[in-house]
Amino acid sequence: SPVRDPHLRDDDLDLEASIRPQTLADFTGQKQARENLSVFIQAAKARGEALDHVLFAGPPGLGKTTLAQIVARELGVGFRATSGPVIAKAGDLAALLTNLEERDVLFIDEIHRLNPAVEEILYPAMEDFQLDLIIGEGPAARSVRIDLSKFTLVGATTRAGLLTTPLRDRFGIPIRLNFYEVDELELIVRRGARVLGLPMRPEAAREIARRSRGTPRIAGRLLRRVRDFAAVSGDAEVTRESADRALRLLDVDDLGLDAMDRRYLSMIATHYNGGPVGVETIAAALSEPRDAVEEIIEPYLIQQGFIQRTPRGRMLTAHAFRHLGLSVPSATSQ
Ligand code: ADP
Repeated sequence: SPVRDPHLRDDDLDLEASIRPQTLADFTGQKQARENLSVFIQAAKARGEALDHVLFAGPPGLGKTTLAQIVARELGVGFRATSGPVIAKAGDLAALLTNLEERDVLFIDEIHRLNPAVEEILYPAMEDFQLDLIIGEGPAARSVRIDLSKFTLVGATTRAGLLTTPLRDRFGIPIRLNFYEVDELELIVRRGARVLGLPMRPEAAREIARRSRGTPRIAGRLLRRVRDFAAVSGDAEVTRESADRALRLLDVDDLGLDAMDRRYLSMIATHYNGGPVGVETIAAALSEPRDAVEEIIEPYLIQQGFIQRTPRGRMLTAHAFRHLGLSVPSATSQ
């Protein structure tokens, strides 16, 4: 089953859709990705051909699914979505592929979690738009070849490193998404507040942006919780102070780390003297799946310089000790 983001509440998933950008022009940030996509989309449209296969890689909540939908919309083609762990058998994928129309986008989320038997039939489908299926069993088995419409596969992965080489090599347009800048998140929060009809001071939007872990999905979630607090307190507009109060109540600290981030850091600080400690040990101590630790918790902590990945395990940096209000052990790297 897919790794569940511990930062998310169920109702967020529905509300998220309401502030999802619909066009490339509406999509904030990831400038290089946007510019490249725009060129490739225009070229494919001008030639009347299917866009080359696209792979989006990066941490959860950075806009991979949103971009996949935008790609289909900008191409003016149909969009079908599924996810790696959901496709159990080769036949399930065959059914999806044979139902595609010319130039459609098929989006496969968590494509690094495809089962190998399913992945095998994806290769000729991506390369030659053909399906090789074995029908029947034993001596009666025969192989049939089916021609497919020329489609675009858009894959998304939180772990590009886990993709097999043959699969990765079949994507003509690999795109890496990075954590967002505060300025970009501020625009996203302001746009979200407008969509939600929530009056907000610019400093309040900035504060939410600064504390969103570089992630639009988290910015959206915090925005909606801040809106709840504002509704209950009856404030006419959200100020920096009221945003800060709400974020504190949500356990989001001054640098945007949440309770899970701080549990992660303080566990390594207090039980392992700052590390190195292996990811399996960390996952067990936090009672979180290893995948969630590596895909959801660690990337931002690494990017912000709170931890380092070493061959012997994770190590806290001096920055992390200081943030936790602890004295820095002498062996710790700055
Ligand atoms: P991923 O597929 O990478 O996990 P999503 O595409 O589902 O991320 O994005 C999560 C949420 O964040 C979406 O609901 C969308 O509204 C919002 N979002 C993502 N990227 C942007 C962006 N660049 N601008 C505005 N909102 C965004």
